[in-house]
Amino acid sequence: MNVAGRPADIPPTEHFQCCTCGGTGLDSYGETCEHCEGLGFC
Ligand SMILES: [Zn+2]
Ligand SMILES: [Zn+2]
Repeated sequence: MNVAGRPADIPPTEHFQCCTCGGTGLDSYGETCEHCEGLGFC
């Protein structure tokens, strides 16, 4: 009986890919995507 913690720490791996950079975090110019701020998802 272990109710200490929940193994529900879902890593932010597959989020919503950014529609601007396609998930790379960089725009077509190689600059940080301003839509997702380089996160790759939005
Ligand atoms: Zn986006
Ligand atoms: Zn983006």
